[in-house]
Amino acid sequence: MAVPPSGQQSFPEARAYLAAIIDSSDDAIISKDLRGNITSWNRAAERIFGYSAGEIIGHSISILIPAERGAEEPEILRRITAGERIDHFETVRVRKDGRNVPVSVTISPIRDASGAIVGASKVARDISERLQAAEHIHTERERLRVTLTSIGDAVIVTDAQGLVTFLNPVAEALTGWKQDRAEGQPLDLVFRIVTETTRRPGENPALRALREGVVVGLANHTILIARDGSERAIDDSAAPIRGNAGEVLGVILVFRDVTKIREWERSLAQLAAIVESSDDAIVGKDLTGRIMSWNKGAERIFGYSAQEVIGRSISIIIPPERLDEEPRILDRLKKGERVDHFETVRVAKDGRKIELSLTISPIKDSEGNVIGASKIARDITESKRAINALQQAQQALAEHARNLEDKVAERTAALREMVHDLETFSYSISHDLRAPLRAMQGFGDILAEDYARELSPQAAEYVRRIGQSAARMDKLIQDVLDYSRIARTELDIKAVEVEPLLRGIVECYPMLQPMRAQIKIEGPFPPVLGNEAGLTQCFSNLLGNAVKFVKPGVPPEVRVWAEPHNDHVRLVFQDNGIGIQKESQGKIFRIFERLSSDYEGTGIGLAIVKKAVEKMGGSVAIHSEPGKGSQFWLELRRAARQDNRRRNN
Ligand code: ADP
Repeated sequence: MAVPPSGQQSFPEARAYLAAIIDSSDDAIISKDLRGNITSWNRAAERIFGYSAGEIIGHSISILIPAERGAEEPEILRRITAGERIDHFETVRVRKDGRNVPVSVTISPIRDASGAIVGASKVARDISERLQAAEHIHTERERLRVTLTSIGDAVIVTDAQGLVTFLNPVAEALTGWKQDRAEGQPLDLVFRIVTETTRRPGENPALRALREGVVVGLANHTILIARDGSERAIDDSAAPIRGNAGEVLGVILVFRDVTKIREWERSLAQLAAIVESSDDAIVGKDLTGRIMSWNKGAERIFGYSAQEVIGRSISIIIPPERLDEEPRILDRLKKGERVDHFETVRVAKDGRKIELSLTISPIKDSEGNVIGASKIARDITESKRAINALQQAQQALAEHARNLEDKVAERTAALREMVHDLETFSYSISHDLRAPLRAMQGFGDILAEDYARELSPQAAEYVRRIGQSAARMDKLIQDVLDYSRIARTELDIKAVEVEPLLRGIVECYPMLQPMRAQIKIEGPFPPVLGNEAGLTQCFSNLLGNAVKFVKPGVPPEVRVWAEPHNDHVRLVFQDNGIGIQKESQGKIFRIFERLSSDYEGTGIGLAIVKKAVEKMGGSVAIHSEPGKGSQFWLELRRAARQDNRRRNN
């Protein structure tokens, strides 16, 4: 190392000293005169430009200037001549070997003792390394920018103050902020987040990373609110960017839209909850029959906890005699088939046999390969038991019903026989009663006629009363006989002309004569299906009652007409009699029922009417009000027209 100059140094020493400094400089130090010819050239100049001092001194500086920069030198000379200094002018010069070398030059005028500018000194620094470094930084930065831009996740970079410096396109899309608008904005504004559950602004991970200088991991359930207010679930993390000295220069925030993933998670959780809460056993197994999943229903039905059985073979719940079922089921599953409502028996942990209905479906991977099976088992022990009990009950009921029907049929037959016997009995008894009655009547008549003179008036009166009672009894016996005849015999049904029958009856009975009653027969009367003798009895009873049940002194007025009703004919008998109270109307058709003893009668007439009409397939009804007369009607089937014609021919 050279010794620093001192006041005692001689001029040559000082010069040598300066030359040593210049030579030891890393920068090229060159001087030139005002024509541009090189006048001095140090070692560094030799190194940078490749020329030795001997080679270049006296030559024009322009040999160092590339052709395209030829205009620089006159300009430099002009400025130097004007006394200016040119500082850190970055340009390019050419080496001896033809390669370009980037340089930073500082050019100062050289003055002589009188102050006149006689040349220029030029200090040139080789800046290739610096430029390379800058270039390197630039490419690195560019690479980083491209990486961040093309990355699938959203990226936001801030400076140390938390102001946004960069957003990649994904971040632009998710936040709704464009790079040019977001740049320089506070991060909170661009990246607005709330916590999903509380809806309160969440701790901004980037700001924490900035503040604490640590990497902040994923915050769960964060919602990003975009500039337009739309919301997305995101996962985020932030890391500080550090300088060489470890100082925090900014933060890089990386996040992604997980809305879809959250939805999947939610539906997955829901499915899992459904499976867990099912009453049925839901069991997953692989193709070797190993149990993979086991829900609460399975725990309840089979008694094993999930922990106990997962990983074990499904055969632990299959009774030994049914072990062959499993391979058959697995075979069908491997073909992708499903087994529906397969009823079988399995064993619980405590050895209890359980009746089950199984539905087994194949589980497929994303490529459709069968990788296992899901099995839904429903305990049908109870329902089987209930069904059995129900079936038994139904059988018992059916048998009971059959017995009951048999019994009813039996009893009905017995009753029918009894009724028939009774009717026969009443018929024969009535019949047998008539002979002695005739004898009594006959002898009574003989007494009254042949012994009239011998009888005292009182005895004659007694004889008359005997006759009267005998007549009443005869009527009674006659009515009972009529009734039981109708009841016992099947009536021969054919078409009957109603009007001649009515007129015949009116003509025969004295009480129906015009002197005693006004009877109007108002045709036309369609022919009906019935029995002539039966109808004669019905009509005479109805007409007889109609003229009988009138208030004393009131002349009876009776009208008879027909009302056709589809395939039926209604024959109406209307009187002006005393009428019948509503509550008594039901019972007058029963045998021996009479409403008043003020009127002669046996209480059998209407019973005969009802029985006869029913035997003819018809019905009888009444409409009456006390004091306003009565309407009795018979409803009979209408006879077909051809019957009618045959009769007319
Ligand atoms: P009987 O005429 O012999 O008394 P019925 O069986 O013919 O018996 O009638 C039963 C009862 O119905 C009668 O006793 C009477 O009270 C009542 N009855 C029947 N027809 C009429 C009528 N046209 N008007 C008022 N009451 C009647």
